[in-house]
Amino acid sequence: MESALTARDRVGVQDFVLLENYNSEAAFIENLRRRFKENLIYTYIGSVLVSVNPYKELEIYSKQQMERYRGVSFYEISPHIYSVSDNTYRAMKTSRKDQCILISGESGAGKTEASKKILLYYAVTCPTNDRMAALGDRLLQSNPVLEAFGNAKTLRNDNSSRFGKYMDVQFDFRGVPVGGHILNYLLEKSRVVHQNPGERNFHIFYQLLNGGDEMLLKTLYLEKNPHNYNYLAKGNCPRVSSINDKNDWKVVMKALSVIGFTEEEKLLSIISGVLHLGNIQFGEGEEGETYITTETQILLGVDGSALTEALTHKKLTAKGEEVMISPLNFEQAMSARDALAKAVYGRTFNWLVEKINQSLALKSSSVIGLLDIYGFEVLQHNSFEQFCINYCNEKLQQLFIELTLRSEQEEYETEGIAWETVQYFDNKIICDLIEEKHKGIISILDEECLRPGETGDLSFLEKLEDTLGGHPHFVTHKLANGKTRRVMSREEFRLLHYAGEVNYNVKGFVDKNNDLLNRNLKEVMCQSDNQILSHCFHREEVMDQKRPEMAATQFKNSLMKLMEILMSKEPSYVRCIKPNDAKQPGRFDEVLVRHQVKYLGLMENLRVRRAGFAYRRHFEAFLQRYKPLCPETWPNWHGRLADGVSTLINHLGYKPEEYKLGRSKIFIRFPKTLFTTEDALEAK
Ligand code: ADP
Ligand code: MG
Repeated sequence: MESALTARDRVGVQDFVLLENYNSEAAFIENLRRRFKENLIYTYIGSVLVSVNPYKELEIYSKQQMERYRGVSFYEISPHIYSVSDNTYRAMKTSRKDQCILISGESGAGKTEASKKILLYYAVTCPTNDRMAALGDRLLQSNPVLEAFGNAKTLRNDNSSRFGKYMDVQFDFRGVPVGGHILNYLLEKSRVVHQNPGERNFHIFYQLLNGGDEMLLKTLYLEKNPHNYNYLAKGNCPRVSSINDKNDWKVVMKALSVIGFTEEEKLLSIISGVLHLGNIQFGEGEEGETYITTETQILLGVDGSALTEALTHKKLTAKGEEVMISPLNFEQAMSARDALAKAVYGRTFNWLVEKINQSLALKSSSVIGLLDIYGFEVLQHNSFEQFCINYCNEKLQQLFIELTLRSEQEEYETEGIAWETVQYFDNKIICDLIEEKHKGIISILDEECLRPGETGDLSFLEKLEDTLGGHPHFVTHKLANGKTRRVMSREEFRLLHYAGEVNYNVKGFVDKNNDLLNRNLKEVMCQSDNQILSHCFHREEVMDQKRPEMAATQFKNSLMKLMEILMSKEPSYVRCIKPNDAKQPGRFDEVLVRHQVKYLGLMENLRVRRAGFAYRRHFEAFLQRYKPLCPETWPNWHGRLADGVSTLINHLGYKPEEYKLGRSKIFIRFPKTLFTTEDALEAK
């Protein structure tokens, strides 16, 4: 077999640390491109796996392939998602330490596919016992359910996850997967009421209309054609060639039953209720009051007239007990309706995750966590959502730097080698800019939302300028005084993220952060006959006068918790890259890839990893491979391993500055040294 190291001219190096010029982005991308052309979509940076979406089925995920990777160490075999899965699993079993695999990359890069492959690897290769056989099934079946309710067709990905997901796979002391737990982050609720051209609402709506039988649709008062529903018609894209809604419907219904779900009826009546809600028509009276012109039957398990009242009026509690009712105008009523649809869908989604968790819950001894979360996002127009997503990525980058440096340092220590300081960009300053109490962007936004009287996006922007003017990572039109390269509008602020500059338009920040649902709508929902909804809308919430946490703060707090979870585990990383925007196989768009290499911080990652030594290997593995090159170590070395390695490299003429011997590993500083040795082996 051709050695991966010697075939480097054709297929590139399988570990970026072996690049001669590790500071060159061009060399990095060329290596990715070469490998991609050979269908080698995986490459390492040390132990970080870089994956490029092939956009075609490769024959590398079979059961036989899984077997090849079982029990085999990273370095002995070509890079693969299975290798990361297997090494993580063995690390958990031997060290008894919790592990996690962090998967990042932009939309369509292959994160969700990677996480599914990892899960499948465990389901197939881990030992099971009979009692547990069904658990693996339930774990796997949670995917189609969550995807039906949380994924949608977007321009960038036909099956785009519109929420972040962290999943613990729980194992018992024998390494049998016995349970699971899912945390979900920031579902894109706005999609329920609006889709951009060419995009769709969440899959479940189309699945129900296409797959539900006549009887079911009749009981839900639904018609088959998505175009009849305002909430499905905006994107003008009811069908997607890569998606079979009818089939997916069957898969989802089956999955729900495997999970042990018994509330299908209630769940589907909520889904249909949301569609009906979207079709409510409003009229405007002479005095500017709003009324509903469509017939309202029982919707969402609540009485039609109570709902009508709540959708067209607002209840205000002035001081103490006094309650005032004021009519809503046409626009206010429309937005109250949309807010209700979003709240109902969002809360039902959370309830679904909770349900799945109940079905997976079991006591376990250790866990492997899988994080599949949105990567750094820069769109034409960036709003509140991108702000949250990119903030999340700043936090993950911080964690990454901290943990990578820590593990490098620890390895040097255990091996007894002097630590060499690494220069790197610490993005704490940007995290602080966003999250710091009182003067961070989130605090300032919350303050604006709480201010009585006229609040607004532009006054939020002014406050930002007052408080943050002069911060090295914060720019606005006014502060820049025309000094910025790219033109900014007066409604934008720019953050200089670790991965690059992003302009955020403040329009909608205040509303989205408030995420308000009128109090009387909540009251009505509390009385729903549908138990899912009456569970989702608590009476205490209505009674409680305290203002609930605002969206950004909620997100910040859930991120803090996530960081704690991840900090307590040993991390592995999968960095996903999308090779082109056309979702096509074989196309490698260098400009697009370069952006992602930057956003993912891969060059920085490589620099940290290469700062000291390019290559390290256990004495035994090193000796095993290269012993034919030295008469004293061939065919077998009988003394101490360290002495064998010393003898071998003396014979090969390694210079002292080229290597160091640790307690159990040899560290080689430059790839060239290794390649020379490889070439010698090849020539033999
Ligand atoms: P992300 O979760 O990063 O947005 P997905 O994992 O949903 O992206 O991948 C988008 C699409 O790309 C998938 O639906 C699939 O068609 C294709 N894809 C991703 N990874 C692979 C892979 N390893 N092999 C084949 N196709 C893939
Ligand atoms: Mg995804």
